[in-house]
Amino acid sequence: MSQLKYGLNTICTHIGEIKDEQFKGAVSPIYMSTSYEFEDVQIKRYPRYFNTPNQEFTSKKIAALEHAEAGMLFGSGMAAISTVFLAFLKHGDHIVVQNTLYGGTSNFIREEFPKYGIDFTFTDGYEVSDFEAAIRPNTKLIHIETPSNPLLTITDIKGVADLAKSKNLMTTIDNTFASPVNQNPIDFGIDIVMHSATKYLGGHSDILAGAVVCNEAHMKIIWNVAKNLGGSLSDMTVWMLERSMKTLALRVKAQNRNAKKLAKFLSQHDNVKQVYYPGLKSHPQYDLAKSQMKGFGGMLSFELADGLDAMAFQKELKLIKSSMSLAGVESTVLSPHKTSHSLLSQEERDAIGVSDNLIRFSVGIESKKDLIADIEQAILKVKQNTQMA
Ligand code: PLP
Repeated sequence: MSQLKYGLNTICTHIGEIKDEQFKGAVSPIYMSTSYEFEDVQIKRYPRYFNTPNQEFTSKKIAALEHAEAGMLFGSGMAAISTVFLAFLKHGDHIVVQNTLYGGTSNFIREEFPKYGIDFTFTDGYEVSDFEAAIRPNTKLIHIETPSNPLLTITDIKGVADLAKSKNLMTTIDNTFASPVNQNPIDFGIDIVMHSATKYLGGHSDILAGAVVCNEAHMKIIWNVAKNLGGSLSDMTVWMLERSMKTLALRVKAQNRNAKKLAKFLSQHDNVKQVYYPGLKSHPQYDLAKSQMKGFGGMLSFELADGLDAMAFQKELKLIKSSMSLAGVESTVLSPHKTSHSLLSQEERDAIGVSDNLIRFSVGIESKKDLIADIEQAILKVKQNTQMA
């Protein structure tokens, strides 16, 4: 039966279930075995082969959500990303990479690729022409991430996919920030979609996982390398991921709604200098975001007015936690210059617009009025303390 005829919430709830034939339980059983009797010599089940029952079935849910033929689950987002790169790039190849990426991906490329003799170019900007300018005769792959971290810049997915096709190159995207609820890059011609499932797919800040979806032919190539690198996910965690994804669309749509309202509230606030959110009409790429996203996501960034300290503000928040990660049902904030972008120099941060006063906000599912009240009281305290100092 075709999965695509199901609606989003039905895919989240039911695709990839394992029927409990023995006891008729409502949810998938967990198969913890690392040893399986041979059914037939073609199917050798083993956790590091990414094909235990829970691994195999739950990956179908992510594939269905991303309109892909095949899916594979990994022990972390970085396990997924590094495996894909190493599956398609070899000594002498070149990759074009978007200039601002998740720091871990950027570090992997800068630190590991030279050891393998793989060349890379970070683009100057986000325009399709920036990607085109970086292509060389030995380029094999273009990698993008949109919306970007932390300034929510939008890359033209179809534009980059078309460019790559015209030059016979492959394309990969990190779709973590958008989630499959808001953005399906395969529909725009991207070859391989990767996720840190630690974020929206897990959604409760209690799972470390990664996922890759693509066509069967590419998946075969990825699998061949993945089993050598060994970055698979335990079945216990796969089961938790399956359970979490049943509410993926409900959670993400609630986060979309909250983020849009908070972005509006912050953009009208006297003590806020700048808000970065692709769902605001004032965002320079609002039309592009609208053309390729079904929802604008739960991530936004903002800068307090000059003189109000971002770190002091975060310390005064009572409900909203200061945290490294993102995409949980609980709202969190962080200062990119102290965390994700701390390894960059001040000049490098200035060049990509990450100011010391920038706050990245992962909006959760709490009641909007409580989040607003928390922000208001924290701004008031920082203002009072600033005036007293
Ligand atoms: N991609 C993005 C956009 C991320 O934010 C992260 C982690 O924060 C990763 C990839 C890496 O994922 P993981 O921490 O699951 O390895």
